[in-house]
Amino acid sequence: MDEHVTANDLETLDRAHVFHPSTHLAQFARGEAPSRIVTGGKGCTIVDRDGRKSLDAFAGLYCVNVGYGRQEIADAIYAQAKELAYFHAYAGHSNEQVIRLSSRIVDRVGLGMQRIYWGLSGSDANETNIKLVWYYNNVMGRPEKKKIISRQRGYHGSGIMTGSLTGLALFHNAFDLPRPPILHTSCPHYWRYGQEGESEADFSKRMAAELEELILAEGPETVAAFIGEPVMGTGGIIPPPEGYWQEIQVVLKKYDILLIADEVVTGFGRTGEYFGSHTYGIEPDLITIAKGVTSAYLPLSGVIVGEKVWQGLEKGTDDLGVIGHGWTYSAHPTCAAAANANLDIIDREDLTANARETGAYLLKSLQEAVGDHRLVGEVRGVGLMAAVEFVGDKETKAAPEPALKVGARISAALLEEGVIARAMPHSECLGFSPPLVITRDEVDQVVSATKRAIERVSESL
Ligand code: PMP
Repeated sequence: MDEHVTANDLETLDRAHVFHPSTHLAQFARGEAPSRIVTGGKGCTIVDRDGRKSLDAFAGLYCVNVGYGRQEIADAIYAQAKELAYFHAYAGHSNEQVIRLSSRIVDRVGLGMQRIYWGLSGSDANETNIKLVWYYNNVMGRPEKKKIISRQRGYHGSGIMTGSLTGLALFHNAFDLPRPPILHTSCPHYWRYGQEGESEADFSKRMAAELEELILAEGPETVAAFIGEPVMGTGGIIPPPEGYWQEIQVVLKKYDILLIADEVVTGFGRTGEYFGSHTYGIEPDLITIAKGVTSAYLPLSGVIVGEKVWQGLEKGTDDLGVIGHGWTYSAHPTCAAAANANLDIIDREDLTANARETGAYLLKSLQEAVGDHRLVGEVRGVGLMAAVEFVGDKETKAAPEPALKVGARISAALLEEGVIARAMPHSECLGFSPPLVITRDEVDQVVSATKRAIERVSESL
């Protein structure tokens, strides 16, 4: 930092010069929305420049899976940056870190998947997915098979095509999105969209039937792929209803439609298995990874490519020559070094098991502490992902009056209690997705603070 810039100036400079993502720009520039300059972190706790600590029950943006302040990852980054910070991976160039990383991840995925295309963000990885699907179908001699079906309330990124895949209006408004050939099918949230007397399994069958209707209406010969998060994240942390992925996969197989599992959040232990696809018996053709692969110590993403698509890609280059898809930073050695150190920690500390066990404890504790509260409609979750959904009327499940901003107010009250959980952007719900190192004691703190925050806001309404 320039020594002439005092700590007090920092906030002014931030408001003047930093374009913050997902922020009310005008309010922030006018000083009406809060600013927080974060300076450090250890384990599940971050600290800001005023010395205020918060237990981060959202792991940044569900990404700091091994927790903050890991010396071991910092050392790995330093060592690699000194040795070879960067070289590209075009035309057969490679580096030891990315070779080790790729082979260990495909070993853990199984499902016959063998190769990983590396990028830097979940959004760019999903852009790669779309391009690979289109390339594949062109090479296979069916250029009309190009449409991609995503789900309402799904989140797949903020690019032009990935923002189109995202099924949340907030990410489309005034951006001229979504664009063809992206289509959206129903959101599988049983509690919200299940019909009177409909079982969870029947609801899943209806979701699959609605998908099939859409495919038939569009023409199966025009539909290339379906993309979904094993557990919906940004749309509200929604675990799939019973039998959902089985039913969906039957439909996709029937019409020869590729399946992309977006594991940007669910990958590397969060659902209590190494991949969400393992938790739910999903057999994808392509898998998106990011976030937890490095626990966000450095940016890194990837597309894990299954054999069927790979065969098409190889054939494509035999027909057309070199594949015209490349990022400067693909297979970045320093990012891969961070990932290898991070995955060592996940294995050594068995954080997948902690996600399963402490996650079950988090869900049960939240249910017991706030499940009966008049503002709470549903408490749901799997592994270390959970959500508390708020209602205006518990009987009818009606959402709270939007003007009351119940979710945002509870999240703000919770922050005052020293805990970060996320007011999710679609519905009035509070999301939890803490570092996978969280302990039962920390869960107790999160849950009791949540209870106090809900009670405080409830009294003030
Ligand atoms: N897919 C999913 C499931 C995500 O949750 C996200 C980010 N929250 C993305 C893709 C996009 O990742 P990024 O923000 O790194 O582009």
